Formats: sequence, C-alpha cells, structure tokens
Amino acid sequence: MRLIYYFAFFNLFFFDTLCAQTAVNADYVPAEWAEVNFDSLAIVNRMAYADTTNFMHEKIYPCARCFLRPEVAEALLEANQIAKYKGVTLVVYDCYRPYSYQYKMYQIVNNPTYVAKPGKGSNHNRGAAIDLSLMDQNGQLLDMGGAFDDFSAISNYNAEGLSKEARRNRRLLRRIMTRAGFKPYDGEWWHFDYRQKRFETSDFKWDCNL
Ligand SMILES: [Zn+2]
Repeated sequence: MRLIYYFAFFNLFFFDTLCAQTAVNADYVPAEWAEVNFDSLAIVNRMAYADTTNFMHEKIYPCARCFLRPEVAEALLEANQIAKYKGVTLVVYDCYRPYSYQYKMYQIVNNPTYVAKPGKGSNHNRGAAIDLSLMDQNGQLLDMGGAFDDFSAISNYNAEGLSKEARRNRRLLRRIMTRAGFKPYDGEWWHFDYRQKRFETSDFKWDCNL
C-alpha cells in the first residue's frame, strides 16, 4: 500500500516537473484551432481514444472530437477531396491529442515502444498529426494488412508478408495524404504529419458540451 502511495506521489511530482519544464499552454485560442466536421465532410469518425476500442482498452478522451491546426485541417480537406475522387472515404482514428492525455497514455502503457514519452510533445500534441485509414463505398474498411495501433512489425509501411491488396491500399492512403501535403511515417502506416509549419505543443482540452 505504501509503495503504491509513493509511486503515485512520484508520478504526480514527475508530471508537475515535466509540465513546468515544457510550459505547455492549456488555453484554448479559437483562432489557433479548427475542428473537423465529420458529418458535413462525410469523413468517418472512429476516434479510438474516445472509447475503449484501443490498444489500452481505456477511454482517454471525454468525447470524440477532432481538432487540428487550421492549416492542417485545410490539408485534410484536400485529402478528403482526393479520396472522394478516388472513390474511398477517410476514416479518422486520432487528431490533436492534449499533452496531459499523452502523459496519461504513457502512464497506462509504461512502455516507450508503444507510447512516446511526453517530453516536449509529439506532433499529435501540436495538432499537426493525424491517424487514419480508408473505407470503400460499401462502408468496409480497406484491408491494410493490420489494424490501427497494432504495435507489431506488420504496422511498418514496408512490412514483409503483406498481401498485394494490403500493399496497394497502404500505397493509396499514402498517395492521398502526400498529395495533400502530409509526410508519411514508415513505422505506422496510419500516421501522417504536417511539417510545413511548426506549432506549439498544447494541452487545451475540448469541452464536450459545446
Ligand atoms: Zn499518430
């Protein structure tokens, strides 16, 4: 019992220190953010950390809203248009991730291979990264050869043993996103960064009732 207490205390202390060092701003400045309107854009909302259908089996976000920096949201709109032209639908798993939620995930998983140490924040914490996949016109997820947040070797874009179809689908997603200005990440077929501008790490948390 005492051990648990010390552990909790240490974590609290560590988190405070971390926040103090990185000085992450938790204020919401409307002009600095854009929300993806899934319904009007006909993009599928599968925000994985807003319920328990994620690798941690824990709900991290209070509700499934997707915020991005305005330039990033603009690029996503372009990706959406390209996807529609190609007859596929974007399926979004994650967008902006508040810094303290990243910390929460890191605490739950406690393994830097699966969840990055919060440190100065990842591109998700800056509102400049998005995790997504594709659906066909019948509402079926395209076969990507592995699921979102599967942390085995199969998640690598160039993984061995992928079917031709999975390879083709990954290539299609990558083509759509890079044409819209995103940079792919070989380690995770679903992750794309917007690197044309640098944004601050943020800890603003959206209100579910607005
Ligand atoms: Zn990601």
